[in-house]
Parts: sequence; C-alpha cells; structure tokens
Amino acid sequence: MSNQKFATKLLHHGHDVKSNSGTRAVPIYQSTAYVFNDSDHAANLFSLAEPGNIYTRINNPTNDILEQRLASIEGGIAAVVTASGASAIATTLLTLLRSGDHIIASNSLYGGTYNLLSVTLPRHGITTTFVDPSDPNNFIEAAKENTKVCFIESLGNPKLDVLDIEEISKKIKELKIPLIVDNTVATPALLNPIKYGANIIIHSLTKYINGNGTALGGVIIDAGKFDWENGKFPEFTEPSPGYHGLVYSEVLGESAFIAKVRIEGLRDYGSALSPFNAFQIIQGMETLKIRMNLHCSNALELAKWLEQNPKVRWVNYPGLSSNSQYLNAKKYLPDGQSGLVTFGVIGGYESAKKVVDSTKLFSLLANIGDTKSLIIHPASTTHQQLSEEDQIKTGVSKDLIRLSVGLESIYDLKEDLREALNYI
Ligand SMILES: *Cc1c(COP(=O)(O)O)cnc(C)c1O
Repeated sequence: MSNQKFATKLLHHGHDVKSNSGTRAVPIYQSTAYVFNDSDHAANLFSLAEPGNIYTRINNPTNDILEQRLASIEGGIAAVVTASGASAIATTLLTLLRSGDHIIASNSLYGGTYNLLSVTLPRHGITTTFVDPSDPNNFIEAAKENTKVCFIESLGNPKLDVLDIEEISKKIKELKIPLIVDNTVATPALLNPIKYGANIIIHSLTKYINGNGTALGGVIIDAGKFDWENGKFPEFTEPSPGYHGLVYSEVLGESAFIAKVRIEGLRDYGSALSPFNAFQIIQGMETLKIRMNLHCSNALELAKWLEQNPKVRWVNYPGLSSNSQYLNAKKYLPDGQSGLVTFGVIGGYESAKKVVDSTKLFSLLANIGDTKSLIIHPASTTHQQLSEEDQIKTGVSKDLIRLSVGLESIYDLKEDLREALNYI
C-alpha cells in the first residue's frame, strides 16, 4: 500500500473502509471523548502502554486519517493536525523551544509567522535572527550557542523566492539543529522538502490542501530523521515532568518529536483541529493534484500575459524564464510553481489600490489557495503592521499586488485584469 502513487494516496491512504462500517467517504467522528472498556484499559491508554483514543483534543479517528494521509504524501513518518497553520507553527516551536533559545529564519516569511517570531516569541524569551536565504552561508553566520531550530518557507509568501533547501539543510546539519519548512505555498503536489533534508514540515491546510476556502487547519509532519540525542535537546533526553518522567527519545525513538507534539503540545496548548474541518479538508485534498496542475498553468499564463501589459512595471513568478528564481524553480518545482503571482503597476501605491478595488472576478481578500481567484495589496493590508524596512525584507513593495490565481477560465481572468488595469 505504501508504494501507491501520490494521486491514489490522496483518495485512499489511511482509510480502512471495513473498520469504518463500509463508509466509502471518510466519516466524521464528531465525539469529544471515547468510552474505555474498563479502568485498566483507561490506565493503559493514559500511560501509553496501549494506543487508543482518549479525548478529541489529543486524538480523533477522522483527524487520524487526515494525519496518516498528509504524512504519507510528504514522505514523513507521522503527523499531527492542528486548528490552523498558525497554530501548527506555534505548537511546533513551543514544543521544541524554551526561554533563552534562538531561532534562525529566512526573512521572506508569511506576515503572521514574521510577527510571531519578531514580536510575540521574544516576549517569552525566544528570539529570532532573520537572514537573507539566497546565500545559505547566511544561516551559519547567524548561528549562536543557543540556536535550536531553523525555520524557512520553501516558496516564500509573498516574495515567491524558491529556497535552495538542499544547500540550506546541509548547512543546518552542521549546526545539529532541525530544519523546519513551511511548505504551504508549494504543497506536496509540487515539492517534498523531506527529500532535500528537511526535518519537520508545516502546512496551513486552509490554503491549497483544502482548496475551497471553507475550513481552517494546519499540520505538523515529522520526517523522523533528526537525532534528538545529540546533546542539544534535553526536552527529549531527560525525564519529562510533563508526562510522568517519560524520556521521549528512549521510549519513542524516531517518533519522539511528533509524540511530544501530540501528548504535551495538543494537551497543553489545545490547538486541536475540529473533526468537521478535518472532513472538509479530506474532501478538498482528494483533488489536490489536478487542482495544482491548473493553478500552475493558469498562473504561468497570466504572468506571461501581465508582462506584456503596458500598465504593469514588473511581474514576479518563479516559472518565468526572466525570473531570478527560475533555476531554483527548475530544480525544486519542475511540475509547476504554484498559483501565486505578484506584480507592480505604474503609479505605485495609489494605482495598486485602484486595481484591487476594480476587479470583479478576483475577490479582494486575505487568503490564498482558493479555487476562486483572489487579489490583495499587501502593503495596505496583510503587511500593514510591518515597518517599511520589514516590508521590504519580506518582499513587499508599495506597488505590489498579489494574485492567488484560481481555476476559472484563463480568458475571463485576463479580461477581468485588463479592465481593472485600465482604471490606472
Ligand atoms: C496562511 C499561511 C499560514 C497560516 O495559516 P492559517 O491557516 O491561516 O493559520 C502560514 N504559512 C503560510 C505560508 C501561509 O500562507
């Protein structure tokens, strides 16, 4: 079964039809808790002597199928789904880090992640150095004695830089710290960062994986390859007071991290995914492969078309041969470069606002990865709270418009943008 191809796994992996009453669709187990056989059974579940469900904050059979499916298509050993992409990131970092620890991160991050690392975590004594990821040596130079993790996005949102994950992971290995990759924009349909040395994969399931803009969700996937016993991670090698003295690396081996995420992270931070959302995400995910193919081809065609429009000053899409990321895109995203396109218009900030106010098919909203086409002006919205300097670092200029190209007819998408650009 594990030899099945990607498209098949999207539809079947992890769902045992017979043990689920013959249901062809994955059922929604909308139950908060699970009846124990007797008090010994209950004690065994709590002590991890026996696997089983206790409480939906920690595990749920619908979520379990989604977790198995996501781990499998990313090439990981196990996964934990969470209430949102943001909670997946926070839960991962809070499971790994303690006050006094340091993170190295690429500077082209999703605005919400940038805020978490630059403002919120420092309040808890966890600091971050942001580096320009285009030179992998920058990661080494930013390392300190107390550096514990490296966090990057495989395809930066909205800078659309394609990171050289293989080179970065080689550098990070020298530091004996795990490489965490947010693979939301690329999706596992286009890129599996674990193949290039990533240790932990994060997704906002809210975006392409669900794909229909109907449910928030997130996931943490463990490659199971990191050596937690290398001396840097006492949380895994010393008895955990949070779980009656359990030594994670000893008892759980390669699953140490993902087990701690579930039994301490979900338990204490409460970032559980609703089983109803898991069900919706499972429906959306069935068509991930064919949707991504069309997102990619529509985005590439639109990017080429925008390059020809006289109102457009510049276009950024890693699949354009004129793009600075083209070589990395050929290596890491050979089957397509996802559905985000950014471009700048003549007249800067005011013109950009005019364009986003004038489209009819492209909806003005703060999301990506929907089947419907979306448009936003990050400088006045998603990246508004960042200083001008930080806006530039994260790749947001005043004139930048971000498109999340949907699955509509490319003819209608061009018409909509042609009319909107005429308002400049
Ligand atoms: C949207 C997004 C997130 C946050 O996910 P939510 O599901 O909105 O919490 C994290 N990373 C990236 C790259 C995103 O696009």
